[in-house]
Amino acid sequence: MRPVDEHVAHAVSLMAPVDLDEVALAEAFGRVLARTVTARYDSPRFDNSAMDGYAVRAAEVTVGTRMRVAADIPAGSGEPPALHSGTCARIMTGAPVPHGADAVIPVEHTDAATAEVTFYQSAVTGAHIRRAGEDARAGDAVVAAGQLLGAWQLSAAASAGHATVAVRRRPVVAVLATGDELVDPGMEPGPGQIVDSNSTLLSMLVTAVGGVPVVLPRCPDRPGAVAAALAGVDADLIVTAGGASVGAYDPVKADLAGHGVEFFAVAMQPGKPQGLGTVNGIPIACLPGNPVSVAVTFHVVVGPMLRALLGAVEPKVLAAPAAEGWKCPAGRAQFVPAVVESDGSVRPATGGGSRSHLVASLAAGRVLAVVPAEVEQVYAGDTVGIMTSILENMG
Ligand code: AMP
Ligand code: MG
Repeated sequence: MRPVDEHVAHAVSLMAPVDLDEVALAEAFGRVLARTVTARYDSPRFDNSAMDGYAVRAAEVTVGTRMRVAADIPAGSGEPPALHSGTCARIMTGAPVPHGADAVIPVEHTDAATAEVTFYQSAVTGAHIRRAGEDARAGDAVVAAGQLLGAWQLSAAASAGHATVAVRRRPVVAVLATGDELVDPGMEPGPGQIVDSNSTLLSMLVTAVGGVPVVLPRCPDRPGAVAAALAGVDADLIVTAGGASVGAYDPVKADLAGHGVEFFAVAMQPGKPQGLGTVNGIPIACLPGNPVSVAVTFHVVVGPMLRALLGAVEPKVLAAPAAEGWKCPAGRAQFVPAVVESDGSVRPATGGGSRSHLVASLAAGRVLAVVPAEVEQVYAGDTVGIMTSILENMG
């Protein structure tokens, strides 16, 4: 069997990053940053008040000091007049601190008067002043290339002085489900038929990682059908589901093995039978057919391929304790769609083990629990790996 790492490295080696697009911030949500965003100016831009209160010279104020209010400085004020000794200035949050002032006393610790104010607190040098550049200096990297752009990253880019960012073009991913037993969602399955859930699963996963899915017409289990279905396809990546195993009617393997695609037994559960290669010059990943296997192999193999197209960094594998024990296959890494409990522990959503047809149970899963190949039993409380790319890709 082929180790998972080796299979993923092979998959990623088939990919090269797609080109760049310069887009408005509002169009960049959920996309991958292609060029590091640097600050155009210091953040904060200027020394400003962190509180509504009074700008003072700290050495001049103690409990009970009365002082003339020489100026009023609302947010948005231009350069305020310098603060003269023996006076203070009323100042609002975010307003520029006048030259000469070295502390702000919050209004709550005064009588709030506007002509002559009484302080109920002494001043500490530097208190309640946000210093220019303490967050970032002009020229500093604020958002690194390869990051997925969510609300936090885009607000940082806006604040750094940018209205547009460079992102990767959304890669087009052709999705092909195979199987004579499949009918469309909403159709009443006849005897021996089931609903095609993989087309929905794959196209939504492609969207979640930042690609544009193109769902090809479903392919029957007939020799030549897969090759014909892929003949005119123009895409950055092709993903097939089903028909890749050792069944007598497995059409993906029958058509593509030896024609640019190699098939492997990958040391993982679920998701053992898989193919990789190129068809008409386009990289292709052939996934198994069972829906949980498709969900898992997409995250483990196709996710990294798409992120290679997008120049995106791989999400970290986290760790969490197992809420309950479960069995793991000897010699195969295990990937279990899992429920996260409120105490941070995880338990299998789909029963674990080889129950990779449990598509209804998949709905409860939020993360993938990962157990290394050498482990044969997880006990409650054991630490397992956690892949959260499902969540991160929500932006
Ligand atoms: P296969 O690899 O083609 O033998 O498929 C393995 C299992 O997955 C079989 O039980 C299929 O019926 C099921 N399956 C294959 N494709 C789909 C699909 N698109 N939607 C739901 N189940 C599928
Ligand atoms: Mg099939």
